[in-house]
Amino acid sequence: MESRATANQAYVILKHLRQIAEEQTDISVRLNNIMSIIAQEMGVDAASCFINIDDNYLELFAAHGFAPNAMHKVSLRIGEGLIGGIAKDCRPCAVSDYKQHPRYIHKADLGEDAYKSFLGVPLIRRNKAIGVLVIESKDTREYTPHEQETLETIAMFLADMVSSDEMSEYKKTLIKERGLVTRERIKGLSLSKGYGLGNAVIHRRRHAVTKIFTEDKDKELERLTLAHQKMNEDLDAKFNSTKLGIGEHMDILDAYLMFARDKGWFKKIADNVMSGMTAEAAVERSYEDMWNRLSATTDPYLKERLHDLRDVADRLQSYLSGDFGESGKSNSDNIIIIAQTMGPAELMDYDYTKIRGLIIEDGTPTMHVAIVAKALNIPVIAKIKGLFDEVKSGEEVAIDGTEGYVYLQPSKAIKQKFQAKIEEDKRLQARFIELRRHTSQSLDGVRIGHYINVGLGFDLDYIESTNCDGVGLYRTEIPFMASNVMPDVEHQISYYKELMDKAGKRKVIFRSLDVGSDKLLPYWAGLTEENPAIGWRSIRITLDRRAILRKQMRAFLEAAAGKELNVMFPMISDLEEFAEAKETLMLELEKEKRSNRPIPVKVNVGLMIEVPSVVFQLDEILEKADFISVGTNDLAQFVFACDRGNPRLTERYDVLSAPFLRLMKEIADKAAKHKVYCSVCGEMASNPIEALALLGLGFRNLSSSGSSYGKVKCMIRSTNIEEVSDYMQILLNSTKKTLRPQLIAYAYDHGIEIY
Ligand code: PEP
Ligand code: MG
Repeated sequence: MESRATANQAYVILKHLRQIAEEQTDISVRLNNIMSIIAQEMGVDAASCFINIDDNYLELFAAHGFAPNAMHKVSLRIGEGLIGGIAKDCRPCAVSDYKQHPRYIHKADLGEDAYKSFLGVPLIRRNKAIGVLVIESKDTREYTPHEQETLETIAMFLADMVSSDEMSEYKKTLIKERGLVTRERIKGLSLSKGYGLGNAVIHRRRHAVTKIFTEDKDKELERLTLAHQKMNEDLDAKFNSTKLGIGEHMDILDAYLMFARDKGWFKKIADNVMSGMTAEAAVERSYEDMWNRLSATTDPYLKERLHDLRDVADRLQSYLSGDFGESGKSNSDNIIIIAQTMGPAELMDYDYTKIRGLIIEDGTPTMHVAIVAKALNIPVIAKIKGLFDEVKSGEEVAIDGTEGYVYLQPSKAIKQKFQAKIEEDKRLQARFIELRRHTSQSLDGVRIGHYINVGLGFDLDYIESTNCDGVGLYRTEIPFMASNVMPDVEHQISYYKELMDKAGKRKVIFRSLDVGSDKLLPYWAGLTEENPAIGWRSIRITLDRRAILRKQMRAFLEAAAGKELNVMFPMISDLEEFAEAKETLMLELEKEKRSNRPIPVKVNVGLMIEVPSVVFQLDEILEKADFISVGTNDLAQFVFACDRGNPRLTERYDVLSAPFLRLMKEIADKAAKHKVYCSVCGEMASNPIEALALLGLGFRNLSSSGSSYGKVKCMIRSTNIEEVSDYMQILLNSTKKTLRPQLIAYAYDHGIEIY
C-alpha cells in the first residue's frame, strides 16, 4: 500500500489529537479515541498503546481494532515479545510479517490474529520508555521511514499525556481497584540520589505543652538549666563522633550549635520562667516570639534559621520531658526515616550507618538536613504530602532517590529490583575505585583531560577518590551561598587554599562569583526581576559591584601563590566584558606584586561560553583568552530559549540534536584552530551518552561532577573516538528532534559502556 504519511499528515494528526486531548472526558476514553484517529489517518487496521504499569510491566491501556475486552487484560514484561523489546531497548521496530519475527509471542487475549505488519515506537521520558505505541495492518506492508517518523512524533505527544498527573491518578485508581496496594508508588522531589530499602521510622517531634504556669519558679529554672546543659553536652558529643569531614555542612551544624548555646535565647526562656511559666511553656513562648517576628519574611536564609530554631526548641522540650534519644530507636539495621520536617541535628539522633533513606513531607533543595544527608550519601526525597500519617512504624519502604519515587510495602519484585540496584551501585563503585589506576584514555589511544566540578565541600573528596586530572570548574558561589555573611578575603583565601592543597599538582580552574538567577545569597535582599535568568546576575553583578570582584581576585591570587592560577569568568556576553573582567584581575595582580606578596607562577585567564553572542565573536575572543570552558547548562537554556529549571520543559528540547551539536562543533573547531584549551563543564560532560557526542565533536577536555566521573570514564575507555567522530558527521545532518536514541543504539552496537 502506498504510504499515506507525510510531514503534513503528522501535523494534521497532531492537531486532531490535541483537540481530543482537551476534551472533558476520562483519560481512558480520550486515549481510545486517539488510537482510532491514528489508525484512520495512517491508513492501518489497528493502533494500540501499552503503558508501563510499574518498572517491570507494560499493560494495554488503549486500542483500536482489537478485542474490546482486551483492555487492561493484556500485559507484557519489559523485554517480552516485540512490544516489550521496544520498551526495553527504547528503539522502534518495523516488521512486514511479525509472526515470523523471532521475538514474536502470541497473546490470546489480544485478538491480533488477523494482523501481519507491525510498527512500534517507544514513548520516551527522561531517556526511558514509559510505554509503546503500535500500528498494525492485515497486509504485509513495509512501513516507510516517513511513517516511522510520524509515529514517533505522535509518541512524543502521547508521552506528555502518559506522564501527566491525570494519568498517575488514573493508574492509582486501577491499582487500588485491583487491591494491589503493595504496588503503591509515590512521586516526590529528589534531594539526594541513591537507592534505599528499609523499615519506616516515623520521626516525631513537638510535645504539646499542657501545663503553662508554675508556682515554683526556682525549681522550673533549675530544670531548664539542667536540661539545657545536658542537651548541649550531648550535641557536642554527637557532632564530634560523626565523620562528616569538612565543608559547609559542618558550617551548618556549627551554626546549629551556636543557636543551641545562644545566651540570648536561653535568657529569654529564663525570663519567661521567672514571669511564672513552666519551662516547657517558656520554650514555646520564646519560639513563638521569634516566629512572629520572622515568619513573614521571604528571605530563604531566615526561613532556614526558623527551622533550626524549631529543631533546637523541640530538642530542649524532649530533654525537659526526659524522653530524649527516643527517636533514634529502632530494631532494624536498615531504616528509612519519615519526617514532616527535620533539622540537621535531628538526623544525627539516628545511627547514620543504618539510615538507608530520608523522606520529608515538606522540604526544599537548600534545606540544611538535605545537605547534611547528601554528605552522608543518604538518598532523600521531599514534598510528599500525607505520607507521615499514612505510613506505620516498621512498615517496609523502598526509596529511589535517583528518580524521586517512594514505594510503600514494596512487592517482592520491587524489593529484588532495589536489592539488585543497591548491589549494582556497590559493584560499580568498586569498579570506579579500581579505575583510579587508569587514565581517561579512549580505545584508540586519545588521552582525554578529565576533570571534576567542585562546589560543595564534600566534592573535594572526589579529587582523591577519582584521581582526576584536576578541577575543571570550581563554583565559588557555593561557599558564599552557605555562609551567613559575605565571606571576607581571609575566609575566601582559606576556602580556595584548601582546594589548592587538596588538588596538589593538579590543575584547578576557579570561576568568579556566579550568583543571581537561581543562586541567591541569603544576606543579599532578593531582587525581584521579571526574567532573573537573563537579568542582573553573574559577571554582570560583579562588574557593577567591582569591590566584590576585586576581593575575590585578590583571594584567588593569594591562595594560588607559588602555583599556577586559572581564573574564568561566567556569563560573558562580549569581548569587552571579558577584557574588563580580565583587567580587574590584572590590576589586582599588579597590586600584589607591588606589595611584595608572593604571587602565582603563572596566571591564565579564560571565560565560560554560556551566552550565544560570544559564539559569534569566538575568533576575536580566542585571540585574547587563555582558555574557554563551555557551560552547556546555560548555553542550552539560551539557545533554545528554555528555562533550565522549569520541569515542564525538561523533555522538550535536547542538547543531542543537530542545532545544538553543530554549535558545539563550531566551538570545538575554532578552539582547535586557535590552539586554545577548551573544555566542557556543563552537565553534558557528566552524562555518558552526551559526553560521547562531545568526544565525537572534537572536545578533548571534560569536567564531570564527582559522582558521575566513574561512569564517564568507563564510556571514554570503551570508545573509539575516530569511529564516533565519523558517526557524528552523519548525525549532524539529521533533522530529528533528538538524536539520543541513535547515540544510545550506537553505544550498544559498539560495546561502549553507558551506565
Ligand atoms: C553551565 O551553565 O553549564 C555551568 C557549568 O554553570 P552553572 O551550572 O553553575 O550555571
Ligand atoms: Mg552557568
